[in-house]
Amino acid sequence: MVYDGERTLVLQCPACQGVQFHVFYVFEISHRPHPLQCKCGFTHGQIRRSSKRYLVDAFSLAGERVRLTYSAREFLRATLVPLIEPTFGDIVGYLGKNEEVAEAVAYSDALSEAGSLPSELEQFENPDVMFAILSHLQQLAGMSKVACQCDHPSVGIDIYSDKVELVCSYCGSAMLIGASTEADLQRVLSLSEIVMEPSSYASLGERLRPIF
Ligand SMILES: [Zn+2]
Ligand SMILES: [Zn+2]
Repeated sequence: MVYDGERTLVLQCPACQGVQFHVFYVFEISHRPHPLQCKCGFTHGQIRRSSKRYLVDAFSLAGERVRLTYSAREFLRATLVPLIEPTFGDIVGYLGKNEEVAEAVAYSDALSEAGSLPSELEQFENPDVMFAILSHLQQLAGMSKVACQCDHPSVGIDIYSDKVELVCSYCGSAMLIGASTEADLQRVLSLSEIVMEPSSYASLGERLRPIF
């Protein structure tokens, strides 16, 4: 299943009592807090990564701060996760794919009704390797070291269970990166920069294979 790296988080806002959608990209989330500002101006949450977990700070329906913790797999891949405030079990938001989150909000009557919605977790073949690879790619992207040589580079990432694919949405260039074995990981960790050629399709493994 293709996954484009885009995630949607919706949170109820204790300031305006509204519901605010936040669309973000997995590369944007690092150890630095990623603030979530409501359209009313109130910052009603933040996301950050802490080693192998993702932390979402939000507010309970009563306006108290809550911190919710998610595994990388859940945070990056789950189709729909209700954000459940631990004290009363209220749903204070949803995280997942845009369509499913929007649907959940539409059916949950402004998030007030608790319910047990299914959260489909897709398994990575090797979660540790996948996470380490995503983390390294994120680091490179943060230093602007992931690029395409075309005129309007716009590189995104598709995540599969055993590989990732860097894709330039402007020129269609793509690079396949295996993400299930220790060798895949070492290959990625050895990279300090990724530059894609315009309109090309490359596999990281093949590229680094010695030519005889
Ligand atoms: Zn608000
Ligand atoms: Zn390009």
